[in-house]
Amino acid sequence: GSAKPRLIDDEDGGVLFYSTTPSSSSSYVNLEKERQRLPVYKYREAILYLVETHSTSIIVGETGSGKTTQIPQYLKEAGWADGGRVIACTQPRRLAVQSVAARVAEEMGVTLGEEVGYTIRFEDVTNPDLTRIKFLTDGVLLREMMDDPLLSKYSVIMVDEAHERSLATDILLGLLKKIQRRRPELRLIIASATIEAKSMAEFFHIRKRRPQLEGEDHGPQTEPAILSVEGRAFNVQIFYIEEPVSDYLRATVSTVMSIHNKESMGDILVFLTGQDDIDAAVQLITDEAQNSGKSSLGMIVLPLYSGLTRADQDLIFSPSPRGKRKVVISTNIAETSLTLEGIVYVVDSGFSKQRFYNPITDIENLVVAPISKASARQRAGRAGRVRPGKCYRLYTEDYFVNEMSAHGIPEMQRSNLASSVIQLKALGIDNILGFDWPSSPSPEAMVRALEVLYSLGVLDDDAKLTSPVGFQVAEIPLDPMVSKMIIASDQLGCSEEIITVSAILSVQSIWISVKGQKELDEAKMRFAAAEGDHVTFLNVYKGFLQSNRSSKWCHQNSINYHAMKKVIEVRQQLRRVAQRLGLALKSCENDMQALRKAVTAGFFANACRLEPYSHNGTYKTLRGSQEVYIHPSSVLFRVNPKWVIYNSLVSTDRQYMRNVISIDPSWLREAAPHFYQQQPLNLNRH
Ligand code: ADP
Ligand code: MG
Repeated sequence: GSAKPRLIDDEDGGVLFYSTTPSSSSSYVNLEKERQRLPVYKYREAILYLVETHSTSIIVGETGSGKTTQIPQYLKEAGWADGGRVIACTQPRRLAVQSVAARVAEEMGVTLGEEVGYTIRFEDVTNPDLTRIKFLTDGVLLREMMDDPLLSKYSVIMVDEAHERSLATDILLGLLKKIQRRRPELRLIIASATIEAKSMAEFFHIRKRRPQLEGEDHGPQTEPAILSVEGRAFNVQIFYIEEPVSDYLRATVSTVMSIHNKESMGDILVFLTGQDDIDAAVQLITDEAQNSGKSSLGMIVLPLYSGLTRADQDLIFSPSPRGKRKVVISTNIAETSLTLEGIVYVVDSGFSKQRFYNPITDIENLVVAPISKASARQRAGRAGRVRPGKCYRLYTEDYFVNEMSAHGIPEMQRSNLASSVIQLKALGIDNILGFDWPSSPSPEAMVRALEVLYSLGVLDDDAKLTSPVGFQVAEIPLDPMVSKMIIASDQLGCSEEIITVSAILSVQSIWISVKGQKELDEAKMRFAAAEGDHVTFLNVYKGFLQSNRSSKWCHQNSINYHAMKKVIEVRQQLRRVAQRLGLALKSCENDMQALRKAVTAGFFANACRLEPYSHNGTYKTLRGSQEVYIHPSSVLFRVNPKWVIYNSLVSTDRQYMRNVISIDPSWLREAAPHFYQQQPLNLNRH
């Protein structure tokens, strides 16, 4: 309302907040059993009726109302998994898939991987004979369509978290709509926390071909049904900062400390952006708490991001011990994908890591970018689950009202589309531009994707998948550039090494930085190779094998043991894929030139040259003449070879290349004659 904001004191010299009047309230329903207490329980019959009678049902409900964990169970209880059929529930995030599957198995009292299972890339915890409820990422379901185009084993597919508009979700929705025409008995549920339910309904509206005749059995209605689950939520009082902060990490730490010191008990949920700033914040808060003495005992600080081990995930969900306050520092996974009980305070940095793609420069990277108003509201809502809560926004009210965009941009419109194009082609969808997208991608991005795929040898002149390379690339569940690198390694005789490198690139990071930057740098130097990061990875992998896969060895060398175990697993799976594709598994022993050529064959589009007379390590991409720098985490940082290829870019103050290898420029024309044909690039110049 119009009441004067109340100033919150800042005697600690922390961030200054003030509060506006809270919004309307709703009541709390106290029922007995935990499952039956969830808001969605009241809608059980309504949901089952809608699914019975409609091809597509759209279910909107506040986060934590029980959509993900309960609806698949209701469906099973109602018989949708009888006769060997399977109920699928997709999630955009892998950690959510694992966590929710574990929870549902627990609620049903079954072993995870039997009646209830999950599949994420490189991790299949299902049993083909037993699994009736299957949680999986939207990306994995897309892959399953390559073997089973009509997804015939599923009776109901629940596409969850549709409001996220992830790239794979959108493509999945387009394809499911097609499948439904061939399989009218298939039921779709589109579930989300907030949705423009109407636009989704319009997307799924299938116009009737001819007038209906009386007495005819029409099967389920094709017009989608929309159901809104009314949740319960307590007031959340919103606080804004007075003046913009320049360092949101510092602001986060001081805000958490002041909540901890001044507010009554209740857990704190902090939204930061990624593993780096989350780990840093965990460290800073822990240090601060220890230094401040009196309050140090009362706090348990936990990180939450993908790549956490099972044990770490369990800690997040376990209730805080008496007299302790849990502080969970999370990516936006806790925004709608996972619900933590006991949260009373939310600290919202106003940022998240988002994918951005520029079709002009053909550069895609993960950027720390401002969230939307819709996200900010979701984040605040996490504080009102158990009792009235408080949300501290680390941005000004003026910024929220006048500058924050209302909604995020669908990932489709800010991604490199190469992978998606291959998948659609592999599914026999040739007219990509005419595909029924829930929101259309930009024509420039589409053209770029086709161009890159053509130069990778994946598409031919008619934009059809080439044989065998195109089909092979489509089969490998990795980015097309990585897949191409694996295929090229066959002829270069280094597939064992390239598969190791690919496995390492597919895990988040094999290094741990908690012990400190200096120790990490020293550890890296022990493995560093003059050629660059990829060869360094090979050295680490060899060392790990020689240590007999010892966790102690990992610890001594600042290497993440869990990541290395994952690498071994992924490597096994990639070897099986390679064998299935008829690639020879061969080692090049110490011929690192073969390895570098294979990397070039996949990543030629990411070639860069050091600027002549550059004193600060400025590179320019050959493609778009973009200024880029070697990331400080690379072993080639400050080495600055003349010609390099990078694996990915991260942008902070500058564009930084991550995972860099030095190359010989003559390999570029060998690898991609078309691509570099017309480039005004003088390979001999320097
Ligand atoms: P929605 O999908 O509507 O956001 P969920 O089905 O995810 O809701 O959550 C319903 C309830 O189940 C919440 O109270 C949540 O805290 C609880 N829950 C979900 N996953 C877990 C888990 N892994 N451990 C403990 N509780 C969980
Ligand atoms: Mg959910």
